[in-house]
Amino acid sequence: MPGFELFGEEEKKQVNDVLETGVLMRYGFDGMRNGQWKAKEFEKALTVRMQSKHVQMVSSGTAALTVALASAGIGAGDEVIMPTFTFVASFESILALGAVPILVDVDDTLTLNPAAVEKAITSRTKVVMPVHMCGSMADLKALKAICDTHNLLLLEDACQAIGGTFDGKPLGSYGDLGCFSFDFVKTITSGEGGAVITNNKKYYTNADHYSDHGHDHVGKDRGAEAHPFLGYNYRISELHAAVGIAQLGRLDTFLEKQEQYYNIIRKGLATVSEVTFRAVPDGGVENYSFISFFMPTQELAENAHKALGSAGVDACFYWFNNNWHYYKKWNHLTNKTSLGKLPKEVQEQLPDYSTSDFSLSDKWVSRNISCLIKLSWTAEEVEIRAQNMVKTLKSVLVNS
Ligand SMILES: *Cc1c(COP(=O)(O)O)cnc(C)c1O
Repeated sequence: MPGFELFGEEEKKQVNDVLETGVLMRYGFDGMRNGQWKAKEFEKALTVRMQSKHVQMVSSGTAALTVALASAGIGAGDEVIMPTFTFVASFESILALGAVPILVDVDDTLTLNPAAVEKAITSRTKVVMPVHMCGSMADLKALKAICDTHNLLLLEDACQAIGGTFDGKPLGSYGDLGCFSFDFVKTITSGEGGAVITNNKKYYTNADHYSDHGHDHVGKDRGAEAHPFLGYNYRISELHAAVGIAQLGRLDTFLEKQEQYYNIIRKGLATVSEVTFRAVPDGGVENYSFISFFMPTQELAENAHKALGSAGVDACFYWFNNNWHYYKKWNHLTNKTSLGKLPKEVQEQLPDYSTSDFSLSDKWVSRNISCLIKLSWTAEEVEIRAQNMVKTLKSVLVNS
């Protein structure tokens, strides 16, 4: 990760195909497009790669989450369970529909803790939205069992874990709906872009219409199409989709490289007895875009994070203090700071997160460090990096 490190001829060729015709829009203009349908082509390829019946490409990962929720009929006042450790897009997509984000603890998987999910369920709960953070997944089997028992939808945010699997299934394809992002820093990128995958025909049709102003996409005349329900514009452009096709074609090569580099670093870190690794649920295979580990205490993690930076080990994150990824800094959510008035349901039902107890999340996230695995490294550089990391962590531990 990220895919932009390895742009090449294939991306240029794909974009040029679109520029040759000049049709930058994914719908219509059939006569001018010279048989080029990049968004459709991407959707077909992703269907195959994700072993999923339907794919709707959209303008971003955030749009994918919004469209996925909307396609399943989520609306004002419905409660959606999401983790305390994720990206702000999780609650943005929920709030966009007037639904209510219910924050729930993460554990040593750095994803939703199933027992905490079960406790948070109310009569208004409609969806459980695990977020497969930093290349690894939530315990999907346990979450699915909970969803089945309580008649809830399972929506996987696989934006950070494309290519990982659970019980042999691609992440994103295990639940009722799955979402991907192809923004500029994801494992594969289209500049901006996202996708919803599902085996549910109805959700797919809804997503197809909803992401294009409600157009029913029947017939050959866009202007004459009907709009069976309200929608918005979450369309992807042909230029973005074109880049995505090229990158999707390279996903498996990227994953191989990430795994190779991850294993080199993991082997090194495993020699430091105080370091433990993020738990991966049984049946899960990571996409290896990050290596995440725990230090014995919060103080040691803070010191280690600083020391790694000083030692030139770049791209390591201490999420506990991060502005975007951890609930502690989501003051705009906690204080309900929005430009305009929020829906009545959100105002009334949003829990007071300033008093919430997320000590289980804190226990794990405060001790965690996650380091990005970069595609642009050479194996030799990774060996040196691993040695450097080991040396740095050992000195932090000795001096504590
Ligand atoms: C990147 C990301 C998103 C949103 O994707 P955008 O394409 O940037 O809107 C959503 N969820 C997670 C976990 C992400 O990392």
